[in-house]
Amino acid sequence: WKNAPPNLALLIAFSRSHGAREFVIHEDERVTYDAHFRAVAHLAHKLAEVGVGKGDRVAFAMRNLPEWTAIFFAVASVGAVAVPLNAWWSAGELSYGISDSGAKLLILDGDRYDRFKGELPALTGLERVFVTRPKGAIEAPAESFDALLPQPNDWAALPEIGLHPAAATIAPEDDVVIFYTSGTTGAPKGALGTHRNMATNIYSSAYSNARAMLRRGEMPPTAPVPKVGLLVIPLFHVTACSASLMGTVASGGTIVLMRRWDAGEALKLIERERVQLTGGVPTIAWQLLEHPDRDKYDLSCLEAIQYGGAPAAPELVRRIEAEFGAAPGSGWGMTETMATVTQHTGEDYLNRPDSCGPPVPVAELKIMSVDGAQELPIGEVGELWARGPMIVKGYWNKPEATAETFVDGWVRTGDLARLDDEGFCYIVDRAKDIVIRGGENIYSIEVENVLYAHPAVTDAALVGVPHRTLGEVPAAVVHLCPGCDASEAELQDWVGRHLAAFKVPSAIRFVDSVLPRNANGKILKGELRKMFPAQ
Ligand code: ATP
Ligand code: MG
Repeated sequence: WKNAPPNLALLIAFSRSHGAREFVIHEDERVTYDAHFRAVAHLAHKLAEVGVGKGDRVAFAMRNLPEWTAIFFAVASVGAVAVPLNAWWSAGELSYGISDSGAKLLILDGDRYDRFKGELPALTGLERVFVTRPKGAIEAPAESFDALLPQPNDWAALPEIGLHPAAATIAPEDDVVIFYTSGTTGAPKGALGTHRNMATNIYSSAYSNARAMLRRGEMPPTAPVPKVGLLVIPLFHVTACSASLMGTVASGGTIVLMRRWDAGEALKLIERERVQLTGGVPTIAWQLLEHPDRDKYDLSCLEAIQYGGAPAAPELVRRIEAEFGAAPGSGWGMTETMATVTQHTGEDYLNRPDSCGPPVPVAELKIMSVDGAQELPIGEVGELWARGPMIVKGYWNKPEATAETFVDGWVRTGDLARLDDEGFCYIVDRAKDIVIRGGENIYSIEVENVLYAHPAVTDAALVGVPHRTLGEVPAAVVHLCPGCDASEAELQDWVGRHLAAFKVPSAIRFVDSVLPRNANGKILKGELRKMFPAQ
């Protein structure tokens, strides 16, 4: 692990050694490492031929497809910067991503092309547009992706070639990716990541797993163990790309790609492909647990369900253990950290289910007063700051936001958290979501976890609602499990039995489906606030 490649061109070159092992499975397509490497190498040569060089941005917007991974590594291996855009974005949002990143090439899948083709003429700076898996005819100026990567369904038949010579000139500190933040608290910002930022994840998560094994008295393996993982979260999100994809390539594992999330389909795939790892965000785990057909499938192959990116209720940890017999795992990270910063598994997680774990061995955490003036003692809640080789140097094109957020190698996370005396981190809220009722702080996650612990509740969120005399009062939106029943008064009483009276939601609304979330699994609290008139 000490020799983990510090750049992604080396990583993809190394992936060749996994040869005939299956790398990506997508519907009825099965791509081996060898075939994927051929696709990356050919695509990289073509990109160079059409003028993509060091530092140029190549934007792409598509669902989870084998082309996604080939494009990402091909762009990385010519020293250019990949700009994976959010496939859920509207045409206007895609235009923003393309013009903000200054991309010169754009690659779309058929659905995105249909949604976006009317906007193409208005975009300046974009030199060429390619479309993979079109639904109908491709009109000029767009072209078929086959022009960049021939034999779309048979990469194994491509002649063997090496990576483009530009790969040899890449330094670990070169930029490789712009990932946009989820836009939960404002307009999405492009986090500019280097090869080192991305590659750090390979060894930091291996060190973290090794540490967890040593704590259990087991010897960690000397080489990474390849696993079959079901990837259900979008690759354009940093967790899927940085943690799942990089880790898989390093270990020679297999990724079963889901083009779009569907819990029933996921259960089928887990059984069919003997999937060992899945997860992504907590809501995925909830939906697997709650699916009515769950017990019709043989899920004994599942070894672990890992997630991050949003708060995970302690209830989830217990249920995964008890009902799937799989190891729950969680972690904290943000787009600005390119990778996981804390990782939580095993006994440690079962004993501290409200923590997101200790920092991975190469990261540091500290808790600062919200004004940033002083470090707070252990146990106190303040803003979480993080430092380590995975933290990006800044936002693309946003010097002011960069100066505010990145201070002496630390990232100010905007999350409120505390640390305990063993170094475990507990996220209590986002600074922007905290509810202040008549001067008393109410941390959303604490109340949400109590709601989750009620047997009838499967999804819950707390929001602040403006109040004439108190400033703000807490209100909750809840989704009950199928066939379950609970009234507003019963849930208020439940919270009141577990927490101080001022934390009891003044109003609770029930919704028929799981709460609205963005593509990265974050609850859209702005939408929920609209459900409550000012009190
Ligand atoms: P934006 O920055 O554009 O408002 P965002 O912060 O939601 O959007 P991401 O970078 O995708 O965009 O998400 C990072 C955030 O996700 C963290 O700051 C934190 O609030 C939340 N998060 C990540 N992991 C966890 C976790 N384990 N527990 C609680 N919250 C988490
Ligand atoms: Mg953020």
